[in-house]
Amino acid sequence: MYHGAIIGPKLKESCGVCGGFSRGDNLPYLTCFALYALQHRGQESAGIAVGGGGEKKIWLKRGMGLVSEVFPTTDELKERRGNLTVGHVRYSYGEEGWHPENAQPLLLKYRHGELAIAHNGLLLNGPQLREELEEKGAIFQTGSDSELLAHLVARQGSPDLEESLAAVVPRLAGAFAFVLTDGKKVIGLRDRHGFRPLSLAALGNEGYFLASETCAFDTIRARFLRDVEPGEMVVLDQNGLRSRRIMPEEQPSLCIFEFIYFARPDSNIHGVNVHLARRELGRTLAREHPAAADMVTGVPDSSIAAASGYAEEAGLPYEMALVKNRYIGRTFIQPSQKLREEGVDLKLNAVRKIVEGKRVVIVDDSIVRGTTSLKLVRMVRRAGAREVHLRISSPPVIASCFYGIDTPTQEELIAHGRTPAEVAEMVGADSIGFLSHEGMISSIGLPGDRVCQACFTARYPVLNPAAGS
Ligand code: SF4
Repeated sequence: MYHGAIIGPKLKESCGVCGGFSRGDNLPYLTCFALYALQHRGQESAGIAVGGGGEKKIWLKRGMGLVSEVFPTTDELKERRGNLTVGHVRYSYGEEGWHPENAQPLLLKYRHGELAIAHNGLLLNGPQLREELEEKGAIFQTGSDSELLAHLVARQGSPDLEESLAAVVPRLAGAFAFVLTDGKKVIGLRDRHGFRPLSLAALGNEGYFLASETCAFDTIRARFLRDVEPGEMVVLDQNGLRSRRIMPEEQPSLCIFEFIYFARPDSNIHGVNVHLARRELGRTLAREHPAAADMVTGVPDSSIAAASGYAEEAGLPYEMALVKNRYIGRTFIQPSQKLREEGVDLKLNAVRKIVEGKRVVIVDDSIVRGTTSLKLVRMVRRAGAREVHLRISSPPVIASCFYGIDTPTQEELIAHGRTPAEVAEMVGADSIGFLSHEGMISSIGLPGDRVCQACFTARYPVLNPAAGS
């Protein structure tokens, strides 16, 4: 039996960004509401920068914790006169990232003014660029890629921010969505492969807003216009909206985990609703891996849509056999492994009256290290289930991510080098079924060559220069 010494239940998001321009007087606190909607993308820090309008300098507030902890009221935001904002919620990449100075947005001064920058993603050539800049005398105060971009802009020497970005951003390799302001305009940028999502909306007739996910637009009553294209720079200011492509588009590679786990179910990405995609993943899984069972349950929250799809397709009752304690928060908000391990039991409970004597199908969206699955199977058995069948609404995760999603090493991935039967035995399930690659792609409905699915295939759209691969 596998005891799951190394834990960490899921792949981890790496931040949510937003920001915009508005002629109205409520943009700063609308930005705060948008951050609430993006909270699931990161709970370790939050921040908002406000510039333009009546602000002489860019105002910044950021801190560790949830949006509600950093902004317990919107009073100070209502007092801000600025009409340009940048907002950020952060999931730190690894335990080293758990430092207040890395909370975003970052605010930096250079000879042409100020820059407030927030980003989501990871630069593959960040270490090389950093070294290059340090050799030329740059001093970094944080480990953030946002600071790296600020240094590159400052060294470009042009007072025109758009021109500076157009010159330096093509040097960046990897996965990124940046939102930044110089107090005159807000700029959104997406990498040439479009790994990380970034969408654009209208704020009535008053302005425009950018956000990692469209659920933020619904919250602030913004009207979705379109996704920012890979390689595109959009500029929002007094003159409206303008756009230019600053990098040629390469193989489109939106992270498929946005659909499987990261994004909120009420978000649409590239025109696909996340909840409906998950339900279809569950339906396809039921056709591929039926189970002789009495009931189906899903792991709250991200697997419930897939579980309901599985139950519908299989003609089995869907039961809420696993109950989540909503006041614990996501298990990974505690950075240490030991705390995360304790977090799983604090968070979920199996309902004995529902599972006792039953053959139970548990649908989960993914298995990474397998420790959550082990705990779930044990929990449901302890509550009296006769059989436990695990069904996973994605293929086996067999490779690590180089694009800013916090994944374990390949050796720590339970499905790496193991058959499904071996994984089932390690987690103590009576059977296991993983969705096929074809089933995943057809369920989501985007062409397979427009998404990154490297953690399932080990075929990377951009090779990792740091690994020399
Ligand atoms: Fe997403 Fe996996 Fe690709 Fe990383 S490797 S971007 S987690 S699909």
